[in-house]
Amino acid sequence: MDCIFCKIIQGKIPSVKVYEDDNVFAFMDINPIGTGHTLVVPKTHAEDIFEISEQDAIEVLRAVRILSTAIKKGVQADGINILQLNGKAAGQVVPHLHVHIIPRWFDDGITISHWPMKAGDMDKIKEVAEKIKVEL
Ligand code: 5GP
Ligand code: ZN
Repeated sequence: MDCIFCKIIQGKIPSVKVYEDDNVFAFMDINPIGTGHTLVVPKTHAEDIFEISEQDAIEVLRAVRILSTAIKKGVQADGINILQLNGKAAGQVVPHLHVHIIPRWFDDGITISHWPMKAGDMDKIKEVAEKIKVEL
């Protein structure tokens, strides 16, 4: 399989690694949104949240928690965004699941966490919730 993140995990493509355990690999994003932007990936290839095993999902989040603390301290961030994209419509470019850890500072100019707040239609919100619940 021709997956760029699998090649990074295998060391076939260089990366700036910050963490590795049996199931998870973490490295610095090559096009950082800001200082400390880090990617966390499962070692077993899974394209997205729909494909990853429950155990690997747990392992990835475990590493994300540990790394978030280290990154926040390491770059003295005021906060952290955790972002994970699934599918082209959601902006996913690399089809190997990855969690972005993005350090944030007050007034850093990064806009990913700001969207216009508009009160929703409660009937519509409840209708959609029912559609979700029948799929669980
Ligand atoms: P997404 O798929 O969530 O949109 O983002 C893919 C991320 O992977 C981007 O932030 C991009 O900068 C990063 N990326 C793509 N190719 C490489 C690479 O070869 N090395 C590293 N370190 N990051 C990469
Ligand atoms: Zn892969």
